[in-house]
Amino acid sequence: MNSLKKDLLLTFDYELFLGSASGSVDSCMIDPTNRIMEHIDKHNLKAIFFVDTTCLLKLSEYSQNYDACYSSLEKVKTQLKTLNKNGHSVFPHIHPHWIDAKYDPNKNEWSLVDVSKYRFNNLSPNDREMVFDSSIKVLNDILYDADGKKNINGYRAGGWSIQPFKDFKPFFIKHGIKFDFSVQSQFYQFTDAQHFDFSDAPLKPIYNFTDDVTSEDSDGIFTEFSINNIYIPKYINKINKTFLKIYYKLTGDHTFNYGHGHASTDTSEHTPRSSRGYNMSDSDYERIAIELMTPIKQSLYRNFIKQNGFMHFISHPKMINKQNIKCFSSFLDYANSRYNIESDFMKMLPNK
Ligand SMILES: [Zn+2]
Repeated sequence: MNSLKKDLLLTFDYELFLGSASGSVDSCMIDPTNRIMEHIDKHNLKAIFFVDTTCLLKLSEYSQNYDACYSSLEKVKTQLKTLNKNGHSVFPHIHPHWIDAKYDPNKNEWSLVDVSKYRFNNLSPNDREMVFDSSIKVLNDILYDADGKKNINGYRAGGWSIQPFKDFKPFFIKHGIKFDFSVQSQFYQFTDAQHFDFSDAPLKPIYNFTDDVTSEDSDGIFTEFSINNIYIPKYINKINKTFLKIYYKLTGDHTFNYGHGHASTDTSEHTPRSSRGYNMSDSDYERIAIELMTPIKQSLYRNFIKQNGFMHFISHPKMINKQNIKCFSSFLDYANSRYNIESDFMKMLPNK
């Protein structure tokens, strides 16, 4: 057994699709999560689930009138309780535009095409408080008994739109949230939905901050766990696209872009703060994610963990297909046989 330690942070955005057709709770959340957790639990690793709490609030609201919403919510509750019991973390992930979601009872699906409230910043101060407080409450009600121990201390912003942080800071303090997982260092994205600029963020996996997620403050009261970028050379990307085309054609195992994502029209009035930044929609770098893994990229993922002490996966169960899971499972076997893997984020903190 190699004793070289590697931090492997396995995080999931646990949510439905956010476009014109949400997909079902079974196909986007329950089933893929069960399939992934088999491999994570086999290696005794820990994962973090960022739960779209705004979706749960909507399901709860509609549960009174629609049995399908009630049963979807019950399935989610059961799965989250099991994850929590098995030692995984369950934290909130807020997509405020669920406020304007429309339910289609015939299809048992939602439409979230109104993105005017995509950013937390677009909500009134009262709505921000209502959404954040009820997000914490809905998770506490699912995970903990009245006097149970509450350890919801992490957060990831929907669409990573965590800026300006001053909108969030009072709620982080109020609810004891100390750890943020929203910053993808060096990336920026300005669309009619997403809005973030991390082009000035420290090139450090873990750092403290106080008022601005992109500016390190060694005495800061909050800690950022940066989302890693992996370099995918253009020729690999090309081969990868061809591979996927053939794979989808042969297997029909296609979960990508179901119901479309959020709008992605670049708006011109924004420019990144630093020329160091990469545009999310157009870059040779991408996030590290199970749904982006293919046999073509396998060696890049292995090299990444070989060359780095910290590797942060940000995956979406709704987008994961069978070959992604195969690649991920073989990556875990590879990493575990070579390194001493730490997957508990609390044990990744410096001086702990
Ligand atoms: Zn999300």
